[in-house]
Amino acid sequence: MVLCPHCERLTTAASDACFRCGSGRLEPVRSLGRTYSVRKVAVYTALLIDLVALGGLAAVFYGTRVHDPMGLAAFESIVVLEEVVAMGLFLNWLYRSVRNIEALTNGQESVSAAWSVGSWFVPGCNLIVPLRAVWQVIVEELSSTWAFPVTVTWWTSFVSGSLLNVWMWFQIEPTPAEMVVAKALLAIAGLTAGWLVLHTSWRQQIRLDRALARRAALAHKRVRTSS
Ligand SMILES: [Zn+2]
Repeated sequence: MVLCPHCERLTTAASDACFRCGSGRLEPVRSLGRTYSVRKVAVYTALLIDLVALGGLAAVFYGTRVHDPMGLAAFESIVVLEEVVAMGLFLNWLYRSVRNIEALTNGQESVSAAWSVGSWFVPGCNLIVPLRAVWQVIVEELSSTWAFPVTVTWWTSFVSGSLLNVWMWFQIEPTPAEMVVAKALLAIAGLTAGWLVLHTSWRQQIRLDRALARRAALAHKRVRTSS
């Protein structure tokens, strides 16, 4: 196995074309175009998602144990505010990650960076496309066997928790059990998402830095040989 100079992934040395990105081994290394650093935004995203996950659960327990409607309302509005910030950070992270993968694999991705964000707001599409967008980022970086089950756990708990939340919205008085189940599902979704975001971005940043360093070195060599 050798490292492909185009996509920076391990590929077979025997064939002329990389089986991952399709680029020829002797083809000149192309420019990456716009790329984004992802490590810092991944840390903030994971942190906020985990805060939302635990905050939501804490608010339910606070509501059932302590009889303080004012305090609970304040608590819940903080969680809602956290949710909005977490969603913004997550979409920013997703856009950057998909764009980087597009650059590294020469635009072979099935979901574009823009659609990976836009699809969240299109009813129907938002049940499938976001999962595909996130999975194409994860599968590029994480090869371990747990990546798939963790991703499936994240998405099923996120979708079922969100649907249960919407259903409770139409109830006059949701039962405490319903609230605990909904928040527990969203807490599982939050913790798994945080884990996936951090691990994937750590790997992607290493790969991106390597690709950028290779291109910088080649550009330097070209300047030296031409002068
Ligand atoms: Zn390649």
